[in-house]
Amino acid sequence: MNQNEKPQILIIDDAPMNILILARMLSDEYEVLQTTGGKEGIAMAGTKQPDLIFLDIEMPEMDGYEVCSALKANRITADIPVIIMTAHSDQESEVQALELGAVDFISRPPVPAIVRARTRTHVTLKRQADALRLLSNTDALTGMSNRRHFLEHAELELVRMRRNERALAILMIDIDRFKMINDTYGHAKGDLALQTLAWVAQRELRQIDIIGRIGGEEFAVLLPETQQPGAMLVAERLRIAIEGSSVEFAALNPDIPKLPDFTVSIGLTIALKADQNFSACLARADAALYQAKKEGRNRVCIADLPQV
Ligand code: GH3
Ligand code: MG
Ligand code: MG
Repeated sequence: MNQNEKPQILIIDDAPMNILILARMLSDEYEVLQTTGGKEGIAMAGTKQPDLIFLDIEMPEMDGYEVCSALKANRITADIPVIIMTAHSDQESEVQALELGAVDFISRPPVPAIVRARTRTHVTLKRQADALRLLSNTDALTGMSNRRHFLEHAELELVRMRRNERALAILMIDIDRFKMINDTYGHAKGDLALQTLAWVAQRELRQIDIIGRIGGEEFAVLLPETQQPGAMLVAERLRIAIEGSSVEFAALNPDIPKLPDFTVSIGLTIALKADQNFSACLARADAALYQAKKEGRNRVCIADLPQV
């Protein structure tokens, strides 16, 4: 979420009066979301991704402990800090809340200065954790997913594709004779070429496509909901866009000396039911990439599929 916007706080409490009291303490500094139902709260947490949740323990239907467990069990909401609110101030309730993954515990009636101070602390920590996570998932040079993050994501995408019986295509992209570009024009120009490639690829792909830098000058792309013919069109479009990107780069950056022309070879495959894991897909795409290099580079090759 945008670091400049007001942080969002979600209050889940079956008593509207309790919500009102808390909201009054927080609404100057924060955008306050609220709901009186546990189930609704879980759904809101998932879709709105608030920075902090205040959660009441005593609620009918689904109590706060259950809501907290559900939030922590789902990776989409697991990292959102939860502060438990309760009328009881016994240690047992507090321990139980903390064991379920709540970061803090406040007993009623809430003291405004304490609520504000703890909110500030937890929102700051949450934002720092978010920034670190983003950093640890990103390749510094190109801003793309790094190898680890891409492969994690790819594995999940493969599972999802299987469960929903959807298509998934994979591209492996490798810059041709990149060593020569570095040797001839210097490493800094080589880095610019990598950044240009990232920028062009990002522009050519759809929002749901995922691209990662998985090696020095190797990139991999996931194309969800895409069959082989569609993937071939995407790969060709990428190849052509990258081939022409030095001209484009010069037009966009008149102050920087022109980039040398460079091309890419692309290996393409589709995920199969028989693929045990993502490495199996990647190995096929890699073999197709090798084929493209062997056939003369600056081209797309489709992987041979195993006979079944
Ligand atoms: P091929 O067409 O067979 O792929 O030839 P190639 O020269 O691209 O292949 P090779 O794998 O031998 O060389 C990859 C080169 O990529 C080696 C290294 O100089 C360069 N490289 C890897 N990471 C970076 C990087 O972060 N920045 C720059 N500038 N160059 C990099
Ligand atoms: Mg190369
Ligand atoms: Mg290489």
